[in-house]
Amino acid sequence: MKYALVTGGSRGIGRAVCLRLAEMGYPVAINYASNREAAEETRQQAEAKGVKAELLPFDVASPEEVEQSLTEWYAAHPHDTIAVLVNNAGIRQDSVMIFMQDKQWSDVINTNLNGFFYVTRKVLKGMLTERFGRIINMVSLSGLKGLPGQTNYSATKAAIIGATKALAQEVGARKITVNAVAPGFIATDMTKDLDEKSLKSMIPAGRFGTPEEVAALVGFLASEQAAYINGEVVSINGGLYT
Ligand code: NAP
Repeated sequence: MKYALVTGGSRGIGRAVCLRLAEMGYPVAINYASNREAAEETRQQAEAKGVKAELLPFDVASPEEVEQSLTEWYAAHPHDTIAVLVNNAGIRQDSVMIFMQDKQWSDVINTNLNGFFYVTRKVLKGMLTERFGRIINMVSLSGLKGLPGQTNYSATKAAIIGATKALAQEVGARKITVNAVAPGFIATDMTKDLDEKSLKSMIPAGRFGTPEEVAALVGFLASEQAAYINGEVVSINGGLYT
């Protein structure tokens, strides 16, 4: 079977992506860091769509955990492949730079950027062998325009945009596409401390986006129809920034 692996699939955008890919018929491997209850809810909702869904907990920021979990996954699935990888796990720890602590910088770099590297490197081998793959990286408006108070977060998302474009050229000949999705403000746990009422006046659409709207775009990029889109960054932000 051709699986989809979604990092940070327990909640928010990642959960909606798991469900969209499940609707498209993909069995899903749902990665998460610690929130087993939420991940289990995603699993049940995905299975209700008629596909196999399994939990795959590991910390994307830990090269040892990524290596061990994915090695075990491949060993337990000798006839299956991971055809779709959605690098979605991410955190923010905002602070203006003058007050930013070393840990705020390194935690965000380790999870958002290094996590993308550890997971993608591991999954790529199977895709190269199969000569098929879809890699979709969840970046952000913050990585395109920069947002004050988010130098750490903006740096990770901008770095992944560069890596997306480089990797797309490395693997394109093997029918593997690598694209990035750049959401603006999406209503999830990550943005629940933000004041939507005051921020929405800046957004031409007049509201935050939904995880399902982002998932629909990810689903398209994962589909056969998107085979000729490679190395792109697609914004989804209600017209806030282009
Ligand atoms: P969220 O609701 O806070 O969910 C974060 C997800 O990432 C959870 O599933 C969490 O797992 C997982 N995660 C965090 N650290 C992890 C780690 N070290 N290893 C494995 N999983 C980890 O976030 P979201 O809003 O859905 O954001 C998803 C992605 O979209 C992120 O990359 C974010 O930067 C990006 N994004 C979001 C927005 C927005 O407005 N929401 C805008 C632009 C970009 P647990 O449940 O176990 O904690």
